[in-house]
Amino acid sequence: MVRVCIHRGTKEIGGTCVEVESQGKRIVLDVGLPLDVADPAAMPLHAVPGFDKPDPSLLGVVISHPHQDHYGLAYRLPEETTFLIGQAAESILEAADAFTTAGLRLKHVIHLKDRCALRLGPFRITPYLVDHSAYDSYAVLVEAEGKRLFYSGDFRAHGRKARLIERLIASPPRNVDVVLMEGTTLGRPESHEGFPTENDLVPQFVQLFKQTDGLVLVWASGQNVDRLVTLYKGCRQARRQLILDPYTLHIMRATGNERIPHEGWSSVRVFAPLSQRIRIKRGGDFHLINPLRPYRIFPEQLPGVAKRSVMLFRPSMIRDLDRIAGLKIGRLICSVWRGYLDDKHNRRLLDWLKRRDIPLAYCHTSGHANRHVLKRLCACFPWARVVPIHTERPDAYAELHGAIWQVNDGEFWSV
Ligand SMILES: [Zn+2]
Repeated sequence: MVRVCIHRGTKEIGGTCVEVESQGKRIVLDVGLPLDVADPAAMPLHAVPGFDKPDPSLLGVVISHPHQDHYGLAYRLPEETTFLIGQAAESILEAADAFTTAGLRLKHVIHLKDRCALRLGPFRITPYLVDHSAYDSYAVLVEAEGKRLFYSGDFRAHGRKARLIERLIASPPRNVDVVLMEGTTLGRPESHEGFPTENDLVPQFVQLFKQTDGLVLVWASGQNVDRLVTLYKGCRQARRQLILDPYTLHIMRATGNERIPHEGWSSVRVFAPLSQRIRIKRGGDFHLINPLRPYRIFPEQLPGVAKRSVMLFRPSMIRDLDRIAGLKIGRLICSVWRGYLDDKHNRRLLDWLKRRDIPLAYCHTSGHANRHVLKRLCACFPWARVVPIHTERPDAYAELHGAIWQVNDGEFWSV
């Protein structure tokens, strides 16, 4: 019998952790940090054999993609644990480790490759590369004892890899018994209307860049590779240079993809915020910044190039910018989830914008599929039961499929 337990995620976005058991062996799909946990180190680990101490029955932990709500508790697992993760995703988490507390270095790794099945004890695992706001994201098909479970991971069909979802819908895995389907956007009105594509954002950015006198700041995640490409395209069209920080460039290099903007490209420059310089100095990691020297813009140079530049921004850079005399900041474009603006930690940012009279604009698109795409993917599995996961609205799944099966966190059920 193949048994499954969603330890967390049946009624929330984030913190996903699924255990699959067959013949006394088990694998885990994601070991995420819940979004609302104040102290991750104090959070009790899920009751999975092999999580608190090594256990040979735990054959591997799949990390579907490098977002913290899917890998954030991985650092607390025994170092003997085998992780299955995309090669670029692993490199990105390693790269982040040099700059942030949210990075990860894994010892025993099996790399997931698009549609390359691998065997782990009684399990056959087939990863499917998908479109998502994290680079190198996978859905996975798990087969054991003739049963088939498909886990969607996080995905969308309006990013730069949208064709991957079209390919999945055109040739989905057959005879699937159970689908664990993410539903992040269900219940949100925008999910009905559909979301702009990454490419739709390019002219929106261009217009904002052209309407701005002075430096444009764009608050976006340094790990949202699709968005960085969008920004680069917008900059080219608006004839502005794109200024990135060493952390972001390190992430871009970690993708191993030469077509992603990086230093050495004619309109990419580097500004090293104080927080990153301190971190590099403390860690003695000068190799992270020395190769960037020919492309750097130093604080005193910034006012002179402000009106023909766009700078990737995060709230921790406020003090860097305040120290630069004569710097004209024309606009801040928020290019992250709108909810972050309401977060009490970002109160300081809103106060700063008001104090410096900097107009705020918004330009973003979701990392998750809209309901139409969810419905199309569900239609690929007419004979399967669909289990809601990574959603706050399991009740809203009824419109997606005829056989929705709601389960609770922490309970085992059979496939
Ligand atoms: Zn994600």
